[in-house]
Amino acid sequence: MKVYFLGVGGGIPSLDRTLPAIAIVHKRHILLFDCGEGTQLQLQRAKLSPQRITQIFISHLHGDHVLGLPGLLSTMAMQKRVKPVSVFGPTGIREFVEVMLNLTQAQIEFDLNINEVEKGIISQHEEYKVECLSANHNVPALTFILRMADIPGRFYPAKADKLGVFPQSLRKELVKGQAIVTPEGRRVTPDEVIGPSRPGAIIVYTGDTAPNPDLATHVKNVDLLIHDATFAEMHKEKAAEFLHSTARQAAQTAVQLEAKQLALVHISPRYASSEMHLNEATQVFPNTFAPKDLEMLHLRK
Ligand SMILES: [Zn+2]
Ligand SMILES: [Zn+2]
Repeated sequence: MKVYFLGVGGGIPSLDRTLPAIAIVHKRHILLFDCGEGTQLQLQRAKLSPQRITQIFISHLHGDHVLGLPGLLSTMAMQKRVKPVSVFGPTGIREFVEVMLNLTQAQIEFDLNINEVEKGIISQHEEYKVECLSANHNVPALTFILRMADIPGRFYPAKADKLGVFPQSLRKELVKGQAIVTPEGRRVTPDEVIGPSRPGAIIVYTGDTAPNPDLATHVKNVDLLIHDATFAEMHKEKAAEFLHSTARQAAQTAVQLEAKQLALVHISPRYASSEMHLNEATQVFPNTFAPKDLEMLHLRK
């Protein structure tokens, strides 16, 4: 799975950091989290086709997270897309998309499913599910949890040989989780020839949020935490006032969630570099990075 940090800035775009958008690429699908202005161009720079985007998750309706969406959907229409697209976001996302597309007379011919969501599992797929909960921001806002399906255990052909599991079609049944009976009349269960499955990767994208104590009750053992780190410690009053986080607070959350790694995003344009954020966060949680625009992380499990 690949995670593209298309835009890692917050509030106002700068030449170094564009507005929030994260693309998670899994096989042929792209899941897009937030769609700030300029996301289309960032997708082009990352060589990711909008045609592959199947689901779009919008954390909240502040302009820096959503103003790229009408343009992206219009492009899909102009490219004569036929595959459906689902959009998920807090209350208001439907009106926002509909008004923008109506006024600009976009000719959408694909199924556009707009879902206003609040909490719980919002999307379930064979290979992953997405859950959301309220973030701690100054407008209704969501934090998303992406859980990949369990990774199946390894099949041991030597064990199957020994138990007389022939032909191949019987092995396929075992892989699917079905017990079988061999031609010699022996019952074999999947756990006799297949190792234990392992939990799939978990990615959390907080969107804009002040520290949120609810998060740790929803998820632990996070493989990648992508957290609001708008401010450095010197501006922690501003973080509290506008319900954002400092990089240090993001790192404290990473500790609570027993995360494996932390990505600091939504850096305010007031900082020329994210070095201060990185220093402050790594003191609390060493495995932290501050991705640059278009940086890609290969997440292996
Ligand atoms: Zn924002
Ligand atoms: Zn916001």
